[in-house]
Amino acid sequence: MKKPILTLEQARDISKIYPTPFYIYDEKAIRANIREYLDAWSWNKGFKEYFAVKANPNPVLLKILREEGCGVDCSSYTELLLSDALGFKNGEIFFSSNNTPASEFVFAKRLGARINLDDFTHIDFLNDCAGIPKEICLRFNPGNNFKISTAIMDNPEDAKYGLTFEQLIEGFKLLKRKGAERFGIHSFLASNCLDENYYPSLARLLFKVAVELKESFDIEISFFNLSGGIGIPYRPSDKRVDVYKVASNVKKAYEEILVPAGLGGVSLCTELGRYVAGPYGQLVTTAVHKKDIYKSYIGVDACAVNLMRPAMYRAYHHITVLGKEDAPATRLYDVVGSLCENNDKFAIDRMLPEISTGDILTIHDAGAHGYAMGYNYNGKLKCAELLLKEDGSVELIRRRETPADYFATVDFLKIFNE
Ligand SMILES: *Cc1c(COP(=O)(O)O)cnc(C)c1O
Repeated sequence: MKKPILTLEQARDISKIYPTPFYIYDEKAIRANIREYLDAWSWNKGFKEYFAVKANPNPVLLKILREEGCGVDCSSYTELLLSDALGFKNGEIFFSSNNTPASEFVFAKRLGARINLDDFTHIDFLNDCAGIPKEICLRFNPGNNFKISTAIMDNPEDAKYGLTFEQLIEGFKLLKRKGAERFGIHSFLASNCLDENYYPSLARLLFKVAVELKESFDIEISFFNLSGGIGIPYRPSDKRVDVYKVASNVKKAYEEILVPAGLGGVSLCTELGRYVAGPYGQLVTTAVHKKDIYKSYIGVDACAVNLMRPAMYRAYHHITVLGKEDAPATRLYDVVGSLCENNDKFAIDRMLPEISTGDILTIHDAGAHGYAMGYNYNGKLKCAELLLKEDGSVELIRRRETPADYFATVDFLKIFNE
């Protein structure tokens, strides 16, 4: 059973002050989850989770994660600005970008961020624009050598990211000549992965690369970034990843591969977004129209502008009708937004309880890659974000957009005067 963050009564009370649609995040659950996650890795000295800011850039949530000991993973200028403003310092910022403008490298270096390079040519590029830092990370793309069990996950050879193995070797050699002293390897090969073997398989692959780098090329790796990718159970039938199992299987690989090679002191880090925030945010929306033609539609006051994943990936997001949690799912509906785009559907052919206009629906697992992906198509405005705090009170952590926000980037006076 997937649990709504709010009861119907809470949602009704809140919507009198902050009309739907809005996001609600559960502070208590976010904290409990990240504590458990970090505890699972406590065997590795120096372990750090760098929360992927792109998944949810709300400053209040980032502050909560900072209090819990997380760093941040940034990939743009504004993400760096935000992280700096929130007090993330030096080693607390990882800069894992790709196709990076010079100005962003310069800024990342100035902030003392740990810089992760996505291509061999970026070594000279970084050297020319900002200089090579003492510590540097390279992003590895192993091509089609990566398999979990028998199934090939995302196809790394089709991905735009990272360096090949040969480039990795030449890259570290070049970086060494240019004065770098501490080296890391980063790799991100599967997204939303519920397979508990993903991190262990990835770690095994990277650890073996590090041993070869040490033994054949005298390059010593001092940290690994396993990046993001742990999935969450979007569907009620999905199983939640057991992070203790994941971390202890990585430990096994660490002890089997790294320790005998004299690499027993290296630290690990991750850059999860979805796993850290996804399940603890929901999009709350009101049913405003019912329409019956060839199919039955429920029109809600949110649309793909507020949550793009169903339109973009046909992603499943569970929906609960508040107050009807235990009512039998007897009706087949499409739950749709108001964009002039036929993919603006939060659910297609979904069995739900009978819905009346005015019913409040909560769309689950929207805490990561939800609000953050929002856009303004059809002139639709982004909604508010609210935090359900540990004491049960609700705080507005981002107001909803107004037409003034939408028009803020055009100069009407100039147009009128022309
Ligand atoms: C998107 C991204 C992440 C986070 O991915 P999740 O699927 O949210 O865990 C981490 N690192 C990089 C470089 C990314 O692009």
